[in-house]
Amino acid sequence: MFNIAIDGPSGAGKSTVAKAAAKKMGFIYVDTGAMYRTVGVAALRRGIETTDAAGVARILGEIAIDVRFVDGEQHVYLNGEDVSTDIRLPEASMAASNVSAIPAVRAFLFDLQKNFAKNNNCIMDGRDIGTVVLPDARLKIFLVASPEIRAERRFKELKERGTPVDYETLLEEIKQRDYNDANRPIAPLKPAADAIMLDSSYLTVDEVVERIVTLAKDAGA
Ligand code: C5P
Repeated sequence: MFNIAIDGPSGAGKSTVAKAAAKKMGFIYVDTGAMYRTVGVAALRRGIETTDAAGVARILGEIAIDVRFVDGEQHVYLNGEDVSTDIRLPEASMAASNVSAIPAVRAFLFDLQKNFAKNNNCIMDGRDIGTVVLPDARLKIFLVASPEIRAERRFKELKERGTPVDYETLLEEIKQRDYNDANRPIAPLKPAADAIMLDSSYLTVDEVVERIVTLAKDAGA
């Protein structure tokens, strides 16, 4: 199978470009952040502090996460319920960042992620795909953009969805999540040694997608 890993900080545009590139190439797009968000939502719903490693680890036995593709769109199910909308709520972002630092959560999601790559040509995005989940991916991309540009993009996205947010709060959250993701002891956010760095700050979505498709073709896709 031909696997492409796209890692990078929150809001760099990974999911948008990965989805579009996958469509162009006839690959499936696997969003691993959605899986962490689902664990975060499961903890929030049970009233468990998402920083409480033992508490979160305890509920893993009670939750089943299923990922299915409906018209090429990834949907995530938590114990049979489609939570694809709930996991995008702002509180789910910090919850996901918190639970993703818990080793038991990472182990819980690892096989699910690995299996997609084993059975499908896919573009998988996350934080540790090139370094931990798919170290043998044929192409690894590390997508970055400045925190301000990422906060601006997220601001627009949430506004369009009708979720009122404050830009400064978003910027602070992005910086906090960057810090958490880069400094956690387990699977910290960092580019794989063989990753290609791509800065999306001043590129359009189409330009980034075009580059990824070209890189994939050059790598033999
Ligand atoms: O990509 P997204 O913002 O949806 O990810 C939510 C959170 O899940 C991130 O803040 C990150 O901490 C975590 N995550 C991770 N490893 C992945 C994907 C996401 O730790 N492979």
